Amino acid sequence: MSSDLVNLLGLPRAELQAFVAERLGAKPFRARQLMKWIYRHGAADFATMSDLAKEFRAALESVARIAVPEIVTEQLSGDGTRKWMLRMDQTQGIETVYIPEPDRGTLCISSQVGCAMDCSFCSTAQQGFNRNLSVAEIVGQVWLAQRELGDPRGEGRKITNIVLMGMGEPLANYRNVVPAMRIFMDDLGYDLSRRRVTLSTSGLVPQIYKLAEECNVALAVSLHAPNDELRNELVPINRKHPIDELLTACWHYLDKQNGRSVTFEYVMLDGINDRPEHARQLARLLRGRPAKLNLIPFNVFPGTRYRRSPAAAIVRFRDILNESGVIATIRRTRGDDIDAACGQLAGRVTDRTVVRLGKRLMASERSVGVR
Ligand code: SAH
Repeated sequence: MSSDLVNLLGLPRAELQAFVAERLGAKPFRARQLMKWIYRHGAADFATMSDLAKEFRAALESVARIAVPEIVTEQLSGDGTRKWMLRMDQTQGIETVYIPEPDRGTLCISSQVGCAMDCSFCSTAQQGFNRNLSVAEIVGQVWLAQRELGDPRGEGRKITNIVLMGMGEPLANYRNVVPAMRIFMDDLGYDLSRRRVTLSTSGLVPQIYKLAEECNVALAVSLHAPNDELRNELVPINRKHPIDELLTACWHYLDKQNGRSVTFEYVMLDGINDRPEHARQLARLLRGRPAKLNLIPFNVFPGTRYRRSPAAAIVRFRDILNESGVIATIRRTRGDDIDAACGQLAGRVTDRTVVRLGKRLMASERSVGVR
């Protein structure tokens, strides 16, 4: 759908105001009206925007549009979790997941088509990387879910939390992710508090420092191992930004943002990172720190060499942490019957990378004689 029309979906408030002023000679309140229509009422058609003057609507039609992603498939899990595959273009698809719980509803959105981080236990990584999503494509996932869920605003709303935990590494698409998060928190956008928008990263340290200066959201970090040797294998970016550098960046982020704690995700892989000794190492790293640990039972996918830790091992791991004064909880697996659980989002990706991060880092290490 190539078009010269400007897509208003995802335009930050200041840019939308500039657009209506420059292109249409309109006052800033027109931009505010438009935002309410797009995000509160989920409108995609200027004709339905009844409090805008007819001439203004006609002028809008000639320069702008509201282009939303298209749904390819929808799946509903036995536990109420819903997963949509959205078409990004002829060949590419990404996935968005809605997870209802008694006291909240979480929308898990994607930030890239595929992922280049190459974490060995993640099915998105196996697909490779194709491209970054635009701001409109990131915000469009929320727009669509709101429409599909028939989500009312205010009291009783269904999407109460947004997590950037779908496909992709959000901090590798910093330029588009940050404006999208601003729309999630804008009172004329999705009006969520900063504690209800969570960005999860595999550990891009320089971007964590940048984020600390620019945007205030909850931070989650995919730790997955208590020492560099093991983390190098599981999360290859660790070879560039090892654990102590990563943790220093996390504490800096909290200081800057006046945040309460960082959530550390830890996938439980049978016989790999789930021994009591690993729990004790982890406790030494995080004890006395503003940290919460989220233990994620590994979700299998075709072709993986890993297995999920037995339930008893996960409980024991949690108990060791709790007894050492580190808050750890076990994440309940949701939507695994429709492959919507953590690490199972595969979408439809044509890999355009020649080499992915893991291989590239290993190659560069070899070339300087490391290992
Ligand atoms: N790239 C970002 C955002 C993804 S969040 C990040 O790494 O944080 C998705 C979470 O699920 C991450 O913590 C990821 O490491 C974890 N995950 C990936 N594959 C998984 C699997 N097969 N089972 C359970 N968790 C997995």
